[in-house]
Amino acid sequence: MDLGIKGKRAIVCAASKGLGRGCAEALAAAGVDLVINARTRDALDATADALRAAHGVSVTAVAADIATPDGQAEVLEAGTGADILVNNAGGPPPGMWSDWTRDDFIAALDANMLAPIAMMKAMLPEMCDRGWGRVVNITSQSVKSPIPVLGLSNSARAGLTGYVAGTSRQVAQFGVNINNMLPGIHATDRAVALDGGVSRAQNISVEEAKAQREATIPARRYGTAEEFGAMCAFLCSQHAGFIVGQNILLDGGAVNATL
Ligand code: NAP
Repeated sequence: MDLGIKGKRAIVCAASKGLGRGCAEALAAAGVDLVINARTRDALDATADALRAAHGVSVTAVAADIATPDGQAEVLEAGTGADILVNNAGGPPPGMWSDWTRDDFIAALDANMLAPIAMMKAMLPEMCDRGWGRVVNITSQSVKSPIPVLGLSNSARAGLTGYVAGTSRQVAQFGVNINNMLPGIHATDRAVALDGGVSRAQNISVEEAKAQREATIPARRYGTAEEFGAMCAFLCSQHAGFIVGQNILLDGGAVNATL
């Protein structure tokens, strides 16, 4: 399917690895020029090189912490006039509700709620003026079905989800579509880290921890960054103009709910 976005420009935050990289790959395959971001310069540059080589698009790499105002400003400057924004950042660490401090919550809010809001607030006016724009926020399955040890994530992402629910309906009239993608378990470094946590907590091997988690997913496997990226590119395409403020679950059926 021709997504109709060849030649458009996208900012993809937190995109040197994992789901963000999957989104960057799929957009690049559709002919979209990219600004990609992550904190670690070497991994980011390697991803930028790979994207250029594979897809022949222009890729600008901005090494910065997207959770900070300075990082956001650097990325926004490199991506001035971009048509597409994919918001992403690392997820907060797991833990126990009784241990989290105010500072822990502020860090989670900065990365997973206030950073995407700041990026949208900066880019939406120009998108509305141009009469076209697409925003995809990577959130989590935990928005629909909370994961108790990820309470910092549950809380921050719920706040972002509320913001998007209202804002998406205010900008849709200008041809600007904002939607959220809710990953269930995907085979990325984040999943390996969480398997490691389960392995230590239950005194089992990482492989056993993974097998346990796979057994909870109707598809009996983890998702891939490629599958995730394909949905992201579709939501950024010309075909997604009537999809507004949705929370799209990619979880292999893990959330046991009818709607
Ligand atoms: P990942 O494989 O660990 O990749 C994270 C990427 O984000 C890396 O490129 C990392 O590079 C970059 N990054 C992290 N913090 C950043 C920051 N503050 N500023 C800029 N770049 C940053 O993670 P993932 O699995 O793709 O997860 C992406 C998001 O989806 C996370 O918020 C995660 O919680 C959420 N999620 C993932 C899953 C899953 O199963 N994978 C499930 C539900 C939700 P640097 O470290 O170099 O910055």
